[in-house]
Amino acid sequence: MIQKTAELLKANGVTMLRAGAFKPRTSPYAFQGMGIEGLEILKRVRQKTGIGIVTELMDTENADAVEDAADIIQIGTRNMQNFSLLKRVSKAKKPVLLKRGMSATLEEWLMAAEYVMSGGNYNVILCERGVRTFSDHSRNTLDLGVIPPCRTLSHLPIVVDPSHGTGKRAYVPPMALAALAAGADGLLIEIHPDPDRAMSDGAQSLDFAAFLKLLGQLRTLVEMFGRTI
Ligand code: PEP
Ligand code: MN
Repeated sequence: MIQKTAELLKANGVTMLRAGAFKPRTSPYAFQGMGIEGLEILKRVRQKTGIGIVTELMDTENADAVEDAADIIQIGTRNMQNFSLLKRVSKAKKPVLLKRGMSATLEEWLMAAEYVMSGGNYNVILCERGVRTFSDHSRNTLDLGVIPPCRTLSHLPIVVDPSHGTGKRAYVPPMALAALAAGADGLLIEIHPDPDRAMSDGAQSLDFAAFLKLLGQLRTLVEMFGRTI
């Protein structure tokens, strides 16, 4: 499935594939990811297709293995203030995708980025993935309003994850387009060859056809703005 997904992305001009081998799951009984074996799959697919790999590091214990498999190391929302982990990736040779903590203010998020940069790794990408509010119509509340102030305060690129931000696949395309319009530098969108059979987060994953349709719409919007993503 990873190979098929990577081929689809490459064929359509998408250069990075994000896939979690180590999964932070709310329930200890839920699928925890394939771990080291998953990293091996990602490395094989990178080798075969040339796609870049973004994958999550959850603990310092697996830092070397994840750094080896990843082109970008993802730090998840639950670890945004895991300072020992931030210090560890500040010594990594790979860029860091820093997801916003689900209850983090912009300042707390930027300070977490400072932990990575002050240790010597200046390649930090911020990722807005929704925060927790009283709203219960979607999994999280995607805070697109954070993008303009973030641009004012920081030079760091910011990408948006409308999949975790909404939790429902029908809401992903409109919020992806809105994120671009609000100034995002990129998007993290969950896709799956057969979303209803996914081991994790299938409800928020697009199938290939829906993804390609959205990609076309995003490209039209990008052309209108005269920007690149
Ligand atoms: C993920 O990207 O699969 C993930 C677990 O995201 P978050 O840390 O935003 O919940
Ligand atoms: Mn997920």
